[in-house]
Amino acid sequence: MTHDQAAARIARLRDEINEYRYKYHVLNESIMSEAAADSLKHELSKLEEAYPDLITADSPTQRVAGAVLERLTAVAHQVRMTSLNDVFDRDEVEAWIGRISKLLGHTPKEFYAEMKFDGLAATLIYENGVFSRGLTRGDGLVGEDVTAGLRTMDTIPLRLRHHSGVAPSVYRDRFEVRGEVIIYKADFEKLNQRQEELGKPLFANPRNTAAGSIRQLDPRLVADRHLRFIAYELATEVDGVTRHQDKHELAKSVGFVIDQHSRVVSGIDQIMDFIDEWQDKRHDLPFATDGIVINVNDDADFERLGIVGKAPRGAVAFKYPAEQTTTILKDIMISIGRTGAATPFAVLEPVKVAGTTVGLATLHNESEIARKDIRIGDTIILQKAGDIIPEIVEPIVKLRDGSEKVFVMPKDCPVCGHKLAKRDDEAVWRCVNFDCPALERGRIVHFASKGAYDIEGMGEQTVDALLDAGLITDAADVFSLTVDQLLTVDRFAQKSAENLYNSIQARKSITLDRYIYALGIRHVGQQTARDLAAFFGSLDHFRQAKPHELDAVDGIGPVVSASLTDWLSSDRHRNFLAKLDKAGVVPQARKRPTGPLKGQSFVITGALSMGSRDMVGERLEALGATIQENVTKATTFLVVGDDPGGSKLTKAEKLGTKQLDEEALSRLLKA
Ligand code: ZN
Repeated sequence: MTHDQAAARIARLRDEINEYRYKYHVLNESIMSEAAADSLKHELSKLEEAYPDLITADSPTQRVAGAVLERLTAVAHQVRMTSLNDVFDRDEVEAWIGRISKLLGHTPKEFYAEMKFDGLAATLIYENGVFSRGLTRGDGLVGEDVTAGLRTMDTIPLRLRHHSGVAPSVYRDRFEVRGEVIIYKADFEKLNQRQEELGKPLFANPRNTAAGSIRQLDPRLVADRHLRFIAYELATEVDGVTRHQDKHELAKSVGFVIDQHSRVVSGIDQIMDFIDEWQDKRHDLPFATDGIVINVNDDADFERLGIVGKAPRGAVAFKYPAEQTTTILKDIMISIGRTGAATPFAVLEPVKVAGTTVGLATLHNESEIARKDIRIGDTIILQKAGDIIPEIVEPIVKLRDGSEKVFVMPKDCPVCGHKLAKRDDEAVWRCVNFDCPALERGRIVHFASKGAYDIEGMGEQTVDALLDAGLITDAADVFSLTVDQLLTVDRFAQKSAENLYNSIQARKSITLDRYIYALGIRHVGQQTARDLAAFFGSLDHFRQAKPHELDAVDGIGPVVSASLTDWLSSDRHRNFLAKLDKAGVVPQARKRPTGPLKGQSFVITGALSMGSRDMVGERLEALGATIQENVTKATTFLVVGDDPGGSKLTKAEKLGTKQLDEEALSRLLKA
């Protein structure tokens, strides 16, 4: 990058960050996520590091404060409201402990770990035990007076609750408590549902909703938003309060909601255990949290450490890996799926998001690319949530320099060279060459997949290896594989070859609905396959299905019916079914719900060693039970495996649903 190019990029980045900051902090609007903005800021500071002569006093990297809205009264804080420095991994936590230990002359024995709330920080002032004023953080020195809105919130006591263990000064003198104004995820969703019904614009996220709501001038509007205040800090010295945990306990004693998940920990290992424990579990919490706050528990130590910049040295915020980031879109390529559908995907400058490095992302289809106006060479916002595949949210248009290229769908299949075709009623281009290797590969992967034959150890890479070795040409060939043949493939050793062989043989006996689903017939998903299996009962009946019979199946429309008739009448497919017959694959009809568990409903959560949730569900169904997705009043049993989902457990406890562990379940299955 030349000096001129760097100057141009820096100017564009600054404009975009300033725009974002103004909208986000001043107007409570969001033009991109905080994580995406952080990523841009990071790029800017790296560039300024490399070209220090381009740093100016007005750069966003040189700024710390946010402006106070004019429409609310600005009030100076008696005790400055700090914000926390962020840490992102174990090394940084360790380095922080190292730094403060050196300053203190000893290593703090205890730390207090608590959820980091993603809302709006506020401070509440009580005089003679009565709520008198509430302020937002503002720039830390001067906040906004939002007393009227705060008063409407049930989670804020208008008079401090009396508690005999609390020092009398709390009720007599000025007492200041700090915390976060948040909105629960469920309340946020309800709020947006209502906005939708009223035809009003939707709120972007819980954080902005809490911030925007508390700044409403009309307190009735605030009351309507179901905001909550969670206390986590005192700005007043109180006798007997010597540790951070005491502040939480005192706040609770006088009537505030506190984080009930917080814990005293000591040493880096326990700190990291707490952080790791909440990495996934936090998604089950009713509120949004993107990190953990770690405080030096001893107040005297905390005070001695003081403040540097705008943050106390005695606490840090551990931020979980950003789930949004920015990167460069290097190219757009095409993959061909089992139905021939040509799906464009993005080739990215590899970037870390939500803990994994991502180099590819799906783009769904041509019109999606056009709708989002994604161009090759763009800086894009990339998002990854949980196990969901990474997705491009949008390009950052203002960062374009004119060299970006508009994507043009290729005319030919990149695998077989056959012309791609598009039907008038469809949005997707397809390779219509049945013998295209990409289609065959896709059919085999689908055949072995979880909802179909569920062959353990036969993922995409194994399928590729078997195809490359020439051991299989279609999915039916899988059943004639021998251990000796598998051993000729590099990726197998004796044990793994035997394991794959055994799991293949075990799947020769398969339920009819899985058998049908595995065929990969267009428009026949798992539910349709179940409907067909229930209707036809046996493979022979299904094979001879007549169009008028298909039309009679519940949930099957003319499109699916035509697709099935088409499929069943093709010689190629008839041969494939004959090949499965010859291999000894025998589908079993789905049992009618008449077994000993008839009338009983099960929900399964967590991992079971006896098999996948689907498999265990099928065994229960075979005994007449009904399997549900979620715990309801109708649920008879919640089966609890390893690492269960918190929301299901909570619901079951609330409804008094009986719980079964794996041992009890296997007794039930044997009975
Ligand atoms: Zn092709």
